[in-house]
Amino acid sequence: MKKYAKNSLRLSGAFIKQGWKIAILLFITVVILTAAVQNAVDLREVLDESTTVYTSDITREMAKSVSDIIELKQTDIVNIADSMGKKNIFLNRQDAADFMRRKAEILDFDAMLLLDRHGDYIWSSGSEAELEIDQQSIFDMETVQEAFNGTAGISYIGQQDLYYSAPVWNGQEVHQVLVGIRSKENMQSMIAAKSFNGKCLNCIVDSKGHLLLDSEDMRPFEQLEEIFEAGSEEVRQSIVQMQKNIAQGKGGVFEFISIDGSRNYLSYNSLYVNDWVIMTIVPADLISAGSDQYVFRTFGLIGGIFITLAVFWFLLYRIYNSNRKKLIRIAFTDTLTEGMNNKAFQLKYQDAAEKQSMQEYAIVFMDVRNFKLVNENFGVAAGNQMLHYIYQVIGRHICRENYEFAARSENDRFFLCIRADGPKMIQNRLNEIIEDINAFHDTDCPHCHLSFRKGACFADKEDMDIRTLQDRARIAAQQDSHGTEHSCVFYDESITEKIKKEQELDGLFGESLNHHDFQIYFQPKVGLKDGRLKGAEALIRWEHPKKGMIFPSDFIPLFENNGKICRLDLYAFEETCKILSRRKHEGKALFPVSVNLSRQHFYHPNFLEEFDAVFRQYDIPYEMIEFELTESIFLDDAGIDAVKEIIEQMHRMGFRCSLDDFGSGFSSLGMLKEFDVDTLKMDRSFFLDISSERARDVIKCVVELAKKLHVKTVAEGIETTEQIEYLRSIQCDEVQGYIFSKPLPIREFEQWEEHLRVTIQSC
Ligand code: C2E
Ligand code: MG
Ligand code: MG
Repeated sequence: MKKYAKNSLRLSGAFIKQGWKIAILLFITVVILTAAVQNAVDLREVLDESTTVYTSDITREMAKSVSDIIELKQTDIVNIADSMGKKNIFLNRQDAADFMRRKAEILDFDAMLLLDRHGDYIWSSGSEAELEIDQQSIFDMETVQEAFNGTAGISYIGQQDLYYSAPVWNGQEVHQVLVGIRSKENMQSMIAAKSFNGKCLNCIVDSKGHLLLDSEDMRPFEQLEEIFEAGSEEVRQSIVQMQKNIAQGKGGVFEFISIDGSRNYLSYNSLYVNDWVIMTIVPADLISAGSDQYVFRTFGLIGGIFITLAVFWFLLYRIYNSNRKKLIRIAFTDTLTEGMNNKAFQLKYQDAAEKQSMQEYAIVFMDVRNFKLVNENFGVAAGNQMLHYIYQVIGRHICRENYEFAARSENDRFFLCIRADGPKMIQNRLNEIIEDINAFHDTDCPHCHLSFRKGACFADKEDMDIRTLQDRARIAAQQDSHGTEHSCVFYDESITEKIKKEQELDGLFGESLNHHDFQIYFQPKVGLKDGRLKGAEALIRWEHPKKGMIFPSDFIPLFENNGKICRLDLYAFEETCKILSRRKHEGKALFPVSVNLSRQHFYHPNFLEEFDAVFRQYDIPYEMIEFELTESIFLDDAGIDAVKEIIEQMHRMGFRCSLDDFGSGFSSLGMLKEFDVDTLKMDRSFFLDISSERARDVIKCVVELAKKLHVKTVAEGIETTEQIEYLRSIQCDEVQGYIFSKPLPIREFEQWEEHLRVTIQSC
């Protein structure tokens, strides 16, 4: 795959052009994921906010409830003191002590103490011994002293008990103060968590931050400073703010992480009793455990989606990558030969041209002649195997170190980029390749002789594009349509000129046909026995109004290649019919006229019907028309049986048939046996060397054989009396050649005919 690295880069370019779509998809994915994360974060913030509000509300409620209880107790003490003062109900100290015990029991006080200004006191029955504090300390309390002045109050000593004091009025004076004592435990039950399933911690502090009472476990509150010190700057700021708020009697809430790593809320609120503040520590997960679960689940889902998408994108990338590699392989590999295809060939040439000068290289085009016969005779699979084999043999002759390479471009066509010093060297190398192919070493391919059309173009101009070079090599090969085994046509400017000319002629064809610029010339065939006119051959001429006379050699091969010859032949045929028909109507003698038929017709099996339809429009006898089939048709790939069938069809219709140009190529006498022709037209090449004994013997032999087969013989291209004399001596039937006349326009032909008739009559 290394050799395709650069090619793959080029193809990758096309993929990258598509990459922006993938980039957009990735971007959308990232945006969606970011939005999802942001959404979860927002959700978390909203939940935190509502948790804060909730905690704050709960603490406020708790503060209210605690202060209500304290106030209630205060009211109870005030009422008892009031009733004790008004009624002066006590006969003795014991009665008073019993009264206070009963009231303490009913109103949930641990003890009561009645003090007078002189330090005298009465404890509620049975409570004195239980308390750790003495009456003197109670007497000295600020709130007790204030009660002697008529104001009820509450105080707290030593983080132990709560002391409710109320004045006992005796008329307008206060002689005694009643103190209701609630123990620490009693108080603790009061501030014990009433919310959060009892899982929060409460305490009461004063405005200076001194801890007055905690619910049960002091530890968290005792460690507050430590906790907060360990906290972040944000927490420290929250504490400062809390201190300010407490000083102003305001409440608040903030979040902190305790040293054990748990998240907590600290909420504080004024108790409206003295300057006391109730503080509550709530573990965050207590409130937001449920919602946290959803938030975490959301984060989990986002994480899951992220991982899934990452895996998805990864798999997508892998599939994309492997498909890209497959596509590159498909794009640059010829599946049949498993070698380079034309695209790869072109890119490889471009790479080579970028690295080095290609002036010593040539692009060679090789096309297997009649490859379809291999397919027809041995099957398509064998044909494919053959192409694979040809590519392998070519590969063996390619020198990769010299940066030579080859590819099958399509069908049975191959391109080679080879280094060579000149045409001769290339020709030699191609001969070696073709010889090696036809040796059929190391292969199971059917052993049949393969012949190639070959064309080459030197990359002698620096900036020559590979496509142009390939086109030129292909065009050169097209000039080799009837070339010999060992000929490779090398492209030069004259080929381009020729092609241009052909293109020009091709462009003029349709219009010229409509304008009857194509003229029929007749060339007479003269009988050797009596010197009379025996017939004529219709030969076409192109008399273009601007270009002048154009001869068949300039346009017949062109129109044979592009198939237009079929229209032209039919035209020539109809023009011939018209001439004969006119002659008939003018009362002139009719003679057989031979019309040339191109091999192209044989690719259209029913072409004769078309000719017949045209013929029937003119009232002339069938035997006046003879179709000339060029010798190569009989050797062509059209198939022997097809040609035989067409000759039979001609005869069935009533036409005659001649074998034209016999002897110009690889003709064999066997053809006369095989094909039932009426006339044998011997090519002029037979008679060029008429003085040679050997040539004469061959001609004689052919004429005798034809006679035996009752085939008429016509000698073509006869120019000399020597040729005439010999042909007459061997009893050749007719002669067609310049010795009698060149092909003539009809008017001139008829003058010539008249002249001949008069001459013969006068002899
Ligand atoms: P062909 O059918 O073999 O025609 C004979 C050619 O030999 C004619 O050339 C004729 O002018 C030439 N010729 C005759 N006598 C002599 C001679 O004594 N010396 C020399 N040197 N040449 C002689 P032309 O007319 O140029 O035609 C050339 C070929 O073009 C024909 O060869 C025929 O194959 C083809 N052709 C002409 N007209 C048509 C047509 O209408 N249809 C098709 N398919 N082919 C045509
Ligand atoms: Mg002819
Ligand atoms: Mg001929």
